[in-house]
Amino acid sequence: MNCPYCGHAEDKVIDSREAGDGIRRRRQCLGCGSRFTTYERLQPASLFVLKKDERREEFDREKLLAGIRKACEKRPLPTGTVDKLVDDIETELYQGGRAEIASDVIGDMVIERLKKLDHIAYIRFASVYREFADITTLKEEVDTLLGAETEPSIPSNQLPLLPDEELAVKGRQAGQKKGRARTGSRR
Ligand SMILES: [Zn+2]
Repeated sequence: MNCPYCGHAEDKVIDSREAGDGIRRRRQCLGCGSRFTTYERLQPASLFVLKKDERREEFDREKLLAGIRKACEKRPLPTGTVDKLVDDIETELYQGGRAEIASDVIGDMVIERLKKLDHIAYIRFASVYREFADITTLKEEVDTLLGAETEPSIPSNQLPLLPDEELAVKGRQAGQKKGRARTGSRR
């Protein structure tokens, strides 16, 4: 660490304290006496993703997030759901302590979670990721979902809206009929 004022290489730490996600150290340059602050942040070791075509690339949280966001687009999921899902996966990946992980394994982790969260998002993601061979395979998967006894853990907000809308429409129609009936009786 060189002094930002004079470039001297030696300094002494005069204070250090925990600061959120790292350690903040107050330092004094042994060359010019200037004080400056450094932050030390824990950074996980690099994790590489082994792709289907055997290329390796560094794990990219943003890329994973973008893929899941796309699958969840316009689905009635609470704010922050997608970010939390990615956080969980990222934590699990780094906790595993492996330097390399197959992209399929990550895909399966996402699929497994989406399946519990939202069936439409699950099918969207799985159809890109697992590349359902044909419509039959896709249908089988949907049938499995429909047959599954476990409901998604987060209920869809859209479903309760539909019957209400239907009632509202019926109500308006009934009102119109009554209105016409009254007009008719006056004639
Ligand atoms: Zn200095």
